[in-house]
Amino acid sequence: MAVYDQNNIFGKIIRGELPAQKVFEDDKTIAFLDIMPRAPGHTLVIPKAPARNLLDVNPDDLAHVMQVAQKIAQAGMKAFGADGVTIQQFNEKAGGQVVFHLHVHVIPRKEGEAMKPPATFKETPENLAAHADKLRAALA
Ligand code: AMP
Repeated sequence: MAVYDQNNIFGKIIRGELPAQKVFEDDKTIAFLDIMPRAPGHTLVIPKAPARNLLDVNPDDLAHVMQVAQKIAQAGMKAFGADGVTIQQFNEKAGGQVVFHLHVHVIPRKEGEAMKPPATFKETPENLAAHADKLRAALA
């Protein structure tokens, strides 16, 4: 089993070494917008504690991440007038994982609108900021 590498991109976001559009933070968790959203409001929820993925995460941290994912999903429904929410979570390269710090994708969905293919569309900073504002307002 591969080990956690603290130099991954999300580790840098946790330490404040890289910027992110954060929409929620508590003592154990951060939620921020995906820079290549598959639909508007696409958010990633991560534990602050080091965990490569679902296979090695502390079960209590996993439970907390899922509680926050539920909050973000509810806020995404409201903020984006969504009809549903897709949750995705990938483990190891063979499982589709690209960034090796556990993350849960929360993607608001509209009826009849397909998700963009992964890593095909980089959102503008202005739109990301506007989407983050909407989510923060719905979470307040
Ligand atoms: P995966 O590991 O397959 O779940 O994919 C990693 C996700 O992280 C992709 O959806 C990327 O668009 C997203 N991503 C990569 N770098 C950043 C970043 N600096 N800030 C926010 N999201 C990112």
